[in-house]
Amino acid sequence: MIEIKNLVKKYNKNKKNEVVALDNVSLTIEKGEMVAVTGKSGAGKSTLLHIIGGVLPFDSGSCIIDGKPIENLSDGALAKLRNEKVSTVFQNFLLLSDNSVAENVEIPLVLAGVRKKKRKELCCKALESVGIAELSDRSIGELSGGQKQRVAIARAIVNDCDYILADEPTGSLDSQNTEIIFNLFRSICDNRKTVIIVTHDLSLAEKCDRQIILSDGRRYEDQ
Ligand code: ADP
Ligand code: MG
Repeated sequence: MIEIKNLVKKYNKNKKNEVVALDNVSLTIEKGEMVAVTGKSGAGKSTLLHIIGGVLPFDSGSCIIDGKPIENLSDGALAKLRNEKVSTVFQNFLLLSDNSVAENVEIPLVLAGVRKKKRKELCCKALESVGIAELSDRSIGELSGGQKQRVAIARAIVNDCDYILADEPTGSLDSQNTEIIFNLFRSICDNRKTVIIVTHDLSLAEKCDRQIILSDGRRYEDQ
């Protein structure tokens, strides 16, 4: 379970150009839920996702994941959290473009110290579940946007994390690929994972179990 209590995040704190990106946000996300975070551009969606994903510090409040406040974690413990529990599919994928699909997907396993044979096995399984097993040896640079998105998702699920976070995962896809990617997240969720999708696509958000709407850094309402 994710419990967010009175979360405040400011950029350029105490400077002239200070931005309050999250202004006292509180919310709870249960295990196994598929939740959409929606709101206009600049509402604070990515900021919220990056905080939950353990990649962005915040100013006050608390972000508690499975009972542990992440603000109390050391850098090492945060890295472990990102590797084993909460994994993020970033908006621009953050893939290594000169490397192969398999090399990219294996990164979390290398970080976790998994041996080569097991890595190969888990990597194949992840690529199969996102429907691109045949692309394993291709270079990232040769792939389409939809294919890269699937590689990024495979990398996020390869280590069996409980929480999968995705920032605008269908933002650059056509409607057919949007449907495929959505169904993929749905099946990840059916496999007892918690999925949080940031999206400004309302038809996509409506297909999730629940919507959390942000407006100017505040929680607006739940649907
Ligand atoms: P969204 O993902 O909903 O579009 P963001 O979380 O990216 O919104 O941004 C929320 C607010 O914080 C916006 O006003 C944005 O301009 C500002 N912001 C985001 N990242 C930074 C940053 N690194 N430095 C300064 N301001 C930022
Ligand atoms: Mg964003």
